[in-house]
Amino acid sequence: MTLLQAVKNFVRSKSIHVCYVDVGSCNGCDIEVLACLSPRYDIEQYGIYVHNNPREADILLVIGAFTPGWEDKLRMIWEKIPDPKAAIAIGNCPISGCLFDRPHTLIDPPAAKHIPIAAQVPGCPPRPTEIISAVLSVAPLVFRDYEVAKR
Ligand code: SF4
Repeated sequence: MTLLQAVKNFVRSKSIHVCYVDVGSCNGCDIEVLACLSPRYDIEQYGIYVHNNPREADILLVIGAFTPGWEDKLRMIWEKIPDPKAAIAIGNCPISGCLFDRPHTLIDPPAAKHIPIAAQVPGCPPRPTEIISAVLSVAPLVFRDYEVAKR
């Protein structure tokens, strides 16, 4: 076990760290993710911390359609996240391209073509409660599978 994984295991016993990346959204889904941080939804009450540092993340939220240049960058961000990890596609854009998926656009959805996606939260945009519930359902499964595989 590396030092990073040891630190991560310690932190994980108390919290889930979520990193989010916007690969070309209209900002509608970003606002819903940020709303999760507001007192109304208070995502931190569940021990979920949202930031933009992949090296400390457990869960990656992918938001937006794939505008040119994001394919490689998203893969690089994904590779920086230490195991165990999972990615969740937030909104219709990373699932299907949503309203940006037209012949004249250069986008390249779905997200699952670029990195492994553990769960999808459809909606344009999805509600904060749906985003929180996806993180809470995916994270324990990923960590449990990792602990089992380590034995
Ligand atoms: S799913 Fe809808 S709200 Fe979210 S980024 Fe795409 S167009 Fe905007």
